[in-house]
Amino acid sequence: AKRLGKDRHAVYDEHLHEQTVEYQRTEAALRNALDEQRLAVYFQPIVDLADDHVVGFEALVRLRDETGRIVTADRFIAVAEQSGLIVPIGTWVLQESCRTIAALRHRTGRPLTVAVNLAAQQASRADLADTVLHALGDTGLPTEALTLELTESALLEADDATLEQLVRLSELGVVIGLDDFGTGYSSLTYLRRFPVSHLKVDRSFVSGMTSDSGDSTIVRAVVRLASDLGLEWIAEGVETSEQRRELAAMGPGYAQGYLFSRPVPADQLPGLLDRGCEL
Ligand code: C2E
Ligand code: CA
Ligand code: CA
Ligand code: CA
Repeated sequence: AKRLGKDRHAVYDEHLHEQTVEYQRTEAALRNALDEQRLAVYFQPIVDLADDHVVGFEALVRLRDETGRIVTADRFIAVAEQSGLIVPIGTWVLQESCRTIAALRHRTGRPLTVAVNLAAQQASRADLADTVLHALGDTGLPTEALTLELTESALLEADDATLEQLVRLSELGVVIGLDDFGTGYSSLTYLRRFPVSHLKVDRSFVSGMTSDSGDSTIVRAVVRLASDLGLEWIAEGVETSEQRRELAAMGPGYAQGYLFSRPVPADQLPGLLDRGCEL
């Protein structure tokens, strides 16, 4: 038994070591990508469930590795947050997103919006409002065309200073959205305390809604809560027309997911709007 315990310990250490090596490798890759300007922003359309027309986009950061392959955010965002690199990366994503969508609005004459994800570390900075207003001023994007998406856990960490910044931005017209709704601590008091004006129904519930009655109940509850509170809702991760149909039947709302389009680079946006993003 003693031997076994020792071996287990060794296996555990080895696992920890591998995790550390993996973390360091990702952090170094991220730092290089930032230095060498190999980060990119992809945009995923958000559609009105009533008629599938594109109302705006969510900005999602991407990394191009040395071979030119695109790496999705889920592979590096945790390391970006732990290392603090999310702050410079986030500022760049914000600028790039505002610039792209301002140009697209100009080109198409359509009142398109863009939603940018905000990490807890960005939200808690004293210069948050200045950074956001600077990006808007620089690019000419109107305040009401920008949504900042925060997760429940980011709000959990938020103090009064953060609240003040968000209130200031919201009063200027910037939209605050609550991301991954239902997956976190889901304290409904956030909805009163913070100037939140839309909820994103998490993909984990949407993907199960047509097969699992529990997931379907949660989606309905979130949609109901949003409409009772006068908030807009966006269902994320919509992949099937069955999901779209059920969601559309729940009342006025919005959707985002592979059914409509994957996230695409900026140069594909005009084509995507011309086609409509009907499958
Ligand atoms: P999120 O904000 O919940 O973003 C949605 C994620 O779901 C994206 O993954 C998107 O590509 C993916 N997705 C969209 N539609 C579908 C679908 O129909 N099916 C499936 N299976 N997936 C779908 P991505 O781009 O890898 O981003 C992962 C997370 O990383 C995001 O989750 C967000 O929390 C974070 N993130 C992405 N970009 C940024 C950023 O610029 N700043 C910060 N702070 N976080 C970011
Ligand atoms: Ca998001
Ligand atoms: Ca989300
Ligand atoms: Ca999610």
